[in-house]
This record gives sequence, structure tokens and C-alpha cells, in this order.
Amino acid sequence: MKLKIWGCRGSVPSWLPPEQVKKFGNRTTCYEIIEGNERIIIDAGTGIIPLGNEIMKQDKLETIICLSHLHWDHIQGLPFFVPLYVQGFQFRVYGRVKWDKTLEEILQGQMSHWHFPISLKEVSARGAEIKYIDFYPGGDLHCDLNNLRVHTLELNHPGGCIGYKITSVKTRKTIVILTDNEHRETLGVELEGFLDKANIILWDGQYTTIEEHKAILYKYKHGWGHSTGEFALRKIREKIQEQHPLEKLIITHHDPSSVDEILLDLEETLKEVRELISRDWKDVKEVIFARDNMEVEI
Ligand SMILES: [Zn+2]
Ligand SMILES: [Zn+2]
Repeated sequence: MKLKIWGCRGSVPSWLPPEQVKKFGNRTTCYEIIEGNERIIIDAGTGIIPLGNEIMKQDKLETIICLSHLHWDHIQGLPFFVPLYVQGFQFRVYGRVKWDKTLEEILQGQMSHWHFPISLKEVSARGAEIKYIDFYPGGDLHCDLNNLRVHTLELNHPGGCIGYKITSVKTRKTIVILTDNEHRETLGVELEGFLDKANIILWDGQYTTIEEHKAILYKYKHGWGHSTGEFALRKIREKIQEQHPLEKLIITHHDPSSVDEILLDLEETLKEVRELISRDWKDVKEVIFARDNMEVEI
């Protein structure tokens, strides 16, 4: 199973000069997971734009798009996702049932004529075949893939958000993507169960508890729907069983104001904390901050 990170910023694409964000990138949320002839795209932030350009050059894979929620940073790349405009492509788009509108109606909203020159209906009439599937988070997604299983969980975020757990049928390896999610005092029973035996966890660490980084201090951002890498490392490692160490904890959904220098500092600090608190058998083998174009094979 291959994971590629196409976008790992939260809120908006970073407005900072390219030389200040060249290590981590500036695209908003988008992750790609491939196993065999199947692909899952989690979220459609601006990272889905270069992914779309790549898909145009490749053989067509069975592709589903799973949206964590419909805040701008998770859908704003969709109108610029080139394969949508090309006949022959087929996509299933999954998102929550929650409001008085369907997933399709909400996505049409961001391409209504006030906001965009071409409507989603026109795109569907001339381009790819797109199906929209509204679901209630919790349990198996029932997405009819042969190589990958998908489970979902409700997260703690204003307006709601869905966490995705993706498991390879062949290898039983598991990747969990949790963005956007504000931590509570503990992980809680449901999240602990969801993270059990995960090989890779992507965790929303937009904020920090390190006092010198005032602009992104968690204590000023309670209720904004995001977490810290420090909380993830401390709480997740407490729950890891010796026979199932976590291979990678990947901190993601970086604040758009965080330049490379800040993210490198936060990453280094977290690595030092891991060295200090991890037991000999290395419960969390590696802590790393997400970067655009990062690839992980498990
Ligand atoms: Zn977000
Ligand atoms: Zn959000």
C-alpha cells in the first residue's frame, strides 16, 4: 500500500513567499492511497490539482474520493481537478449525511455561478461520470473495493469531520487519517479502538503548546477544531501494545502561517520528546511532519 501526501496545509494555501515554504509546501489537504488497481483520495484541497494532472498521465484506476468534511481547505481543489472534465473517468465521492442539503448540492454550491464559471452539473454532463454517496460516519464504509477496506469515525471539529482508517486486504497494514480533529483530555474509547494496531497515523497538529510559537499556540485556539503533535505523541504511545508498534506518526494540517523554519523546529522538538519518553522497544518508531509530495510505502 502506498501513501502520497499531495497537500498538508490547513485553512488556506500558504500565502508566504515560496522560498519560506519550499520544504513543507503550501497546498491544502489531499492524500492518495493506492493498493493494486485501486486508489482512494482523501480530501480535495488544492493538493488534488497536481494529483489530477498526474492521473491524466496514468492508466485509469478505480478511484473513490472520501471527504473528511466540506470546509474550504478540503474541497477547494475539486473545481480544478482536470479528470472531472474528461469523459471515461468514473469517480465515487463519499461524504457525510448531516445537513438539510445533500453532498452533491453542497459541492454544487462552490461551483455555482456566483463563485465559478462552470457548474458541476455541466461538468457531469460533459465529463467524468460522478456518483455522490452520503453516509453516516461510524463503521465500515461499504465502498466495494477489493484491495482496500475503509472504516470511518466521527471526529471533534466544528460542523463535524470524519476520520478514515484504510486497511490493505492483502497485508492487513493500516493507515489512519485524522484531520481535522481537536483533542479532548483523553483519546476516548472510540478513538483508541480506531487507532488500535495502526501502522501509520496522520494527526492534525496545526497548533502547538510550545510557548515561543505564539501565533499557533493551542491555548489561544480552543474550540477552533485542531490539535497538537505533542498531545498525539503522548497519548497515542500510552496505548500502543508492544507487539504492534506504530511505524510512523505523521503530523499534518500545518497552519498556513508556519514557515519551514517553524515546522522544522516543531518537528525537531517532537523527535526529541519521542527519544525521551519512548521505551526501549520504540512504541512510536518515527515522528515526522508531513510534506507535499512525501511518499510512504507500507
Ligand atoms: Zn481543515
Ligand atoms: Zn475544518
